[in-house]
Amino acid sequence: MAGKQATQSAAKPTLSFGEKWCYAPAPEATDHFEVADRHELFINGEFVKPKSGQYFDTINPATEEKISEVALANAADVDRAAKAAKKAAESWRKLPGEHRARYVFRIARILQERAREFAALESLDGGKPIREARDVDVPLAAAHFFYHAGWADKLDLAFPGERPEPIGVVGQVIPWNFPLLMAAWKLAPALACGNTVVLKPAETTPLTALRLAEVMQQAELPPGVVNIVTGAGETGGAVVEHPAMDKVAFTGSTAVGKAIQKALAGKGTDLTLELGGKAAHVIFEDAAIDQAVEGVVRGIYFNQGHVCCAGSRLLLQESIHDIFVQKLARRIERIRVGDPMDKNTDMGAINSQEQLARIEALVKSGEEEGAVLHQSSCTLPKKGFWFAPSFFTGVSQTNRVVQDEIFGPVLSILTFRTPEEAVEKANNTPYGLSAGIWTDKGSRILWMADRMRAGVIWNNTYNRFDPASPFGGFKESGFGREGGRQGMRAYLRFPGSLSQ
Ligand code: NAD
Repeated sequence: MAGKQATQSAAKPTLSFGEKWCYAPAPEATDHFEVADRHELFINGEFVKPKSGQYFDTINPATEEKISEVALANAADVDRAAKAAKKAAESWRKLPGEHRARYVFRIARILQERAREFAALESLDGGKPIREARDVDVPLAAAHFFYHAGWADKLDLAFPGERPEPIGVVGQVIPWNFPLLMAAWKLAPALACGNTVVLKPAETTPLTALRLAEVMQQAELPPGVVNIVTGAGETGGAVVEHPAMDKVAFTGSTAVGKAIQKALAGKGTDLTLELGGKAAHVIFEDAAIDQAVEGVVRGIYFNQGHVCCAGSRLLLQESIHDIFVQKLARRIERIRVGDPMDKNTDMGAINSQEQLARIEALVKSGEEEGAVLHQSSCTLPKKGFWFAPSFFTGVSQTNRVVQDEIFGPVLSILTFRTPEEAVEKANNTPYGLSAGIWTDKGSRILWMADRMRAGVIWNNTYNRFDPASPFGGFKESGFGREGGRQGMRAYLRFPGSLSQ
């Protein structure tokens, strides 16, 4: 054994210290699935042509090449989908929970069976690395369906004495950063709780939701229980304002969330909003520094920073600022940016030209306000939408890069001296979605977590998700929870509860 190892290492070329080496390309195959040239709307269990007669292109953001064209739903199309959902609601709500559970379980199983195809399509349509789509998005989406299948026949146990009932028809609008996963977060609890749905995916990433419609057909879900309409903001507006909607569930930007809340005010429609964030990631001097550096990388560069709960404001205890920045600068040089379909890629393409322009404008504002930009020296591909892993030092609380959600691979670094100052700075934001704390002391974690106004707080880790764990925010990050029993509450009414 020792001899064999010695022979192998003797045969390898040696690298001198500091010299960069590369992995050989490891592209994921695309010949195991097909993508149609044209995608229709999914209404009443069938793929149907849009009444609008219009289609829009969905492109691969890593190459700018067209992948397919997708139906553009207008108000008449949304009306058709809403009517199908309303009709299906009557029998779906009456179906015994164990029957609904079987459908939801079947969806989870089929998703697992077709995992490879879903991962590749997600990566092609959205620009995220295949490794993340394969290891995070698709397994977590399946896990959400499994988890909620388990509850479908136990709702009385989940909410004892409250006599939970389905709400009815739910309009759901989702963003482009985790297209399949967000669809799963929305559909799984809605179906398990006995509701029917009209779902609108984001315009830049409609393909995996439409493929999920195929899974619904394969699972023989009754027609009309899930309807999927594609289009941009106007289509989303038609969904949320349709009179058939008993509840609206929206995930997206705070600006659009506010507009929806205004539009629905006084109508009696139930509403949950999962909006933006600007999370504080707090590192104390007693933290395991190298692990914390990895946590910060996971917190801000995962999914190109297109993550609502991204740890985009790093708060470093003053004594470790210099060493941490040094280590982070070295670490981002090792982030492999490039072809999302390569299994070695760490960071893929920015989702759209519009999002890239938004990131560039905010980074420019940071430089203009006097912050110091540190960027990986990686070579970016010539075609497609790309942004190198970056961070700012020398920022102040009032800088736009500290206050605004960049939704890209850009971190802003601040410092603090005491835990009180860390809490003060962490809470100094209109958002309140998530936060991270790194320290060796459990008591300090609890002290901090009690005082930080954030829906999810990770300790000595970051960006971990589980369907049993509720996710959601405070303040301008929205209201309502997704996941866990708390998440199902938003898809039920409780005639037995004294508070209703
Ligand atoms: P966005 O608000 O622009 O769009 C989200 C969705 O809403 C899209 O499907 C879009 O077509 C639709 N939409 C746009 N205008 C609409 C309108 N007037 N009425 C109805 N629907 C409309 O957001 P985005 O740029 O796609 O997504 C990024 C945002 O989403 C970020 O702010 C991010 O933080 C947030 N987000 C939040 C969570 C969470 O759980 N809190 C999760 C993911 C993303």
